Amino acid sequence: MIPVYICVTIISGFVAAVIMESKTESASKVMAYFFLGVTIGIFGIILAIVAPNEKSPQVQFSQIQQPQRSCPFCKELILADAIKCKHCGERFDELFDHLPS
Ligand SMILES: [Zn+2]
Repeated sequence: MIPVYICVTIISGFVAAVIMESKTESASKVMAYFFLGVTIGIFGIILAIVAPNEKSPQVQFSQIQQPQRSCPFCKELILADAIKCKHCGERFDELFDHLPS
């Protein structure tokens, strides 16, 4: 029989690793929190919960960096500086020549 506390610490390690997996893309950090959970059990999970989320700021940053507008031809959302629509394939370079800048 495996002692109960070993099961608890291993499960804590997995839970901490899963939480970190959703927060960071760094595999070494996920592994670090896995061993942290194995070492200190439930406290490793708590540390993973309070750890800063590294993914959502990057998503917000990319949204700021890439403003969107709707395609004049098919009305689908495309990047504001796109010269070709990814949905309908229309090109905008001729259109921009006629637009006042
Ligand atoms: Zn389009």
